[in-house]
Amino acid sequence: MNIEQRTQEIGRSIHTAVAGEVPSLFDRKRWMGRLMEWAMEDPGFKTRLFRFIDVLPSLNTDELVVRLLREYFGGDPRIPLLIRRGLERIAGGRVMPAVAALAVRKGVETLARQFIAGRGPEKALNALRSLENEGAQASVDLLGEAVLSDSEAQDYAARYVHLLSLLGNGRRDRAEVSLKVSSFYSQIDPVDWEGSIRATMEGLRPVFETAQRTGTAITLDMEHYHIKDLTLAIFRSLCREFPDVSCGVALQAYLKDARRDLDELLRFTKAGDRRIAVRLVKGAYWDYENVTGRQKGWPIPVFLNKDETDRNFEDLTRVLLGNTHLVHSAIATHNIRSLSHAISVSEHLGISPDAFEFQMLYGMAEPIRGVLLKKGFRMRVYTPVGELIPCMAYLVRRLLENTSGESFLRRSFFERSPVEVLLRPPVPVEPRKNGSILSETFVNEPPLDFSIAENRQRMEEALLRVKDNRDRRCPLIIDGREVSTEREIVSVNPARPEEVIGRVSSASGKEASEALAGARKAWALWSKVPAGERAGHLFRAAERLRQRRFELAAIEVLEVGKTWQDADADVTEAIDYLEYYGREMIRLGKGLRLGDIPGEENEYVYRPRGVGVVISPWNFPLAIPAGMVSAAVVAGNCVVFKPSGVSPVTGSFLCRAFKEAGLPPGVLQFLPGPGGEAGEYLVAHPDVDFIAFTGSRDVGLRIVRLAAETHEGQRNVKKVVAEMGGKNAIIVDETADLDEAVKGVLESALGFQGQKCSACSRVIVVGSVAGTFVRRLREAMASVRIGPTEEPGNSMGPVVDRDALLRIRGYITLGELEGRLIYRRDAGDKGFFVGPVIIGDVAVDSRVAQEEIFGPVLAVIEARDMDEAIRAANSTSYELTGGIYSRSPDSILKARMSFRAGNLYINRKITGAMVGRQPFGGAGMSGIGSKAGGPDYLLQFMNPRCVSENTLRRGFVPEQQEQ
Ligand code: NAD
Repeated sequence: MNIEQRTQEIGRSIHTAVAGEVPSLFDRKRWMGRLMEWAMEDPGFKTRLFRFIDVLPSLNTDELVVRLLREYFGGDPRIPLLIRRGLERIAGGRVMPAVAALAVRKGVETLARQFIAGRGPEKALNALRSLENEGAQASVDLLGEAVLSDSEAQDYAARYVHLLSLLGNGRRDRAEVSLKVSSFYSQIDPVDWEGSIRATMEGLRPVFETAQRTGTAITLDMEHYHIKDLTLAIFRSLCREFPDVSCGVALQAYLKDARRDLDELLRFTKAGDRRIAVRLVKGAYWDYENVTGRQKGWPIPVFLNKDETDRNFEDLTRVLLGNTHLVHSAIATHNIRSLSHAISVSEHLGISPDAFEFQMLYGMAEPIRGVLLKKGFRMRVYTPVGELIPCMAYLVRRLLENTSGESFLRRSFFERSPVEVLLRPPVPVEPRKNGSILSETFVNEPPLDFSIAENRQRMEEALLRVKDNRDRRCPLIIDGREVSTEREIVSVNPARPEEVIGRVSSASGKEASEALAGARKAWALWSKVPAGERAGHLFRAAERLRQRRFELAAIEVLEVGKTWQDADADVTEAIDYLEYYGREMIRLGKGLRLGDIPGEENEYVYRPRGVGVVISPWNFPLAIPAGMVSAAVVAGNCVVFKPSGVSPVTGSFLCRAFKEAGLPPGVLQFLPGPGGEAGEYLVAHPDVDFIAFTGSRDVGLRIVRLAAETHEGQRNVKKVVAEMGGKNAIIVDETADLDEAVKGVLESALGFQGQKCSACSRVIVVGSVAGTFVRRLREAMASVRIGPTEEPGNSMGPVVDRDALLRIRGYITLGELEGRLIYRRDAGDKGFFVGPVIIGDVAVDSRVAQEEIFGPVLAVIEARDMDEAIRAANSTSYELTGGIYSRSPDSILKARMSFRAGNLYINRKITGAMVGRQPFGGAGMSGIGSKAGGPDYLLQFMNPRCVSENTLRRGFVPEQQEQ
């Protein structure tokens, strides 16, 4: 009998043995089973149910529970009935919030207890004992909150040490724990490969030392793909350092890489003469991998078709069972087909049932577990232990898994699919191509994946090259000519101000006037170049930026102090603008025919405005000017571009890319110079038709004023597009997921040292959540690594120059007067470093809550309820970005309706808008203009024109032509 025939035979025998049994979750006679049934029948209900279950444990008043119950299920005939019945029984007909809340909490707790063995290790002992009595063993996993700080990581390690001491107390045979490496180092990130390995090892050391002492085994769970290779590297280091600890790692069959990783692990065991354990799972983060892969434009690491995963699982099973001398394998699945296949392979290879084990999840597939135990197989049950709130993510994952259409358990126990369908061998599908699609529709440029070693290495090399080239000189470009001036801007590294990045020529009025004349001359021709051809220049310039992306990112790291990821994000955003506006111009260039009345023809087209000035800031030194310049140029205008004096070297590379893309001389002039001098001269010049500015409010308003003045001979009223500052707030309410909120506020407030116009500088905390939120935020801030960003372990670098440093320090002093200093961190006195600061008890109208600081200073404002929070958020004259962390549908709706922000973000950080997906820009004092990276942006650089012709001549009307 071959492997497949035997698989079918075993499968059928297991299937027969479990026939008639129903795992409790699918038992329609119980309320849990009924809920699951509704969830499976109605996806909308499922979403609401799972979201409600997720938020429930963090609601700390009964009123809140009842309010959310109403918000999620108000009007749903199913849930109120169920709860009403329960309530009637408890409260004799009187529905009180406390009683209703208790009933609901009890229900969800029962549901959680289905999958989670107890609140703490001690509480789980009973469950472990009963597993033992069944003949099974356990692998205990401590569930916890996301680890966001060093202190949380230390707490986690202490909990594991305690667990291991308890398990290893001589009572349990071959006890095992499972853990996630990301819980042991809060700043873990593959970009800092060596540093992450070192710090995670440090966090894990006490745990492994205890395991060694107590003879307990440890398996590293596998988490998101992004840290998969790092996890494997940490695993190898642990194996080397702790040869006596029985150490294992999980392998996810849904990953296309899994086979390669397994081969690598086998080589590692052979070379090190050390047995390891491997737990083969299918993988629990499929949605996450699929979504983040698509969002980032990275190749999707998981198989898209479930059969491919199942087949890979079988392939990997064969490899694992063929290597039992090197690897102790755990086949972790509830799928009868997959486990029958494993048994069949083991028989075929003549392996004793002792040489490997099966694993299943606590609370799932109990009937199948029973059959395997009866057949004499070794069984380990993955047993999570923990408090209710941190367990919710796990619980919802399990519920999703069980109710998903592809769930084997659902198909076998709920839908009762025929046995031949359940046991059918997985059908391999043609591998999908994941290559880039050269499409007419715009797609964002994928960021660099720094978990890939080659990318890290190329970035290191680029940094070295940029640093070596200290004598870099960047001339002006006027009418295609390079012009060097005596006066120079010396651009320095803000982390080490003595380090020069480049010397850039600096224009005076004379050069500015020549540049304008050059632009005017070029415009005569450029304005007549067809839209598609103009767009071609943008696409070619984008290609140049792509080719130079490492060098450009390295320059930004050194010139303005961005982290590797932020610098790379600025380069990809620049590429995005070029690609997006190019396509937009092709669309708009087609013009429109308006109306379909016979006898007239109305043509609606766009014409360029003329000669414009682009003035940009330093904080997105490539992307922002790339956006403004490319929009103006592709619309048929000629441009004089004045970069910020703080980031002129990066700016010069943009002009270089356009030049290399073949942009005709004169279409784009590069004119760095002092803002108050060259900038003002250009703005006030009568031969300028429009100004595109991004920068601070004061300068923006001054430009608006200057531009409004008309001069002798001026042909146009100057159009001003001005994107200005912000004083952005995030609201965190009592229903928020604090793991997410702390992380999101931290990233939004400290990303690029708070120097993003979209940065969060006010956090408005609603009700009782303030204490916990601020404590966790403070600890998380204390764990952020500060230092020169050329070292990838530092996620906070310097602020951009001495002026910025002094201004921010001034605001910190003011904050201490206006509020209460909650947290401040010293960042040394070398370079322009400022540590993060939190100021509490801030009044809504105080200066630190009203003025843009543009640094890592966060004001905390407390509000009683959502209405007060939104009033506080809306209390400044700015209107740029805003955010809310909440799981209350009503609060989210309220924010959608009345939170004043050009870009409002719900349950995510408020920085990092993507071109084409989150067009960016504000209203109020944050700007006049249509959103950058959006469908209205180019219109600002053109004049619409309508030509109407009477086509009726002597009673004859030509036939209308299709457009
Ligand atoms: P800034 O206003 O000091 O400078 C911006 C540009 O204006 C620079 O090129 C500067 O040289 C020039 N300039 C200065 N004075 C001038 C004058 N009198 N006439 C003409 N030009 C003049 O801003 P910054 O420090 O470079 O950038 C930070 C500011 O930019 C923050 O306020 C931030 O919020 C804002 N910003 C806004 C957006 C947005 O999209 N809304 C994006 C990025 C930055």
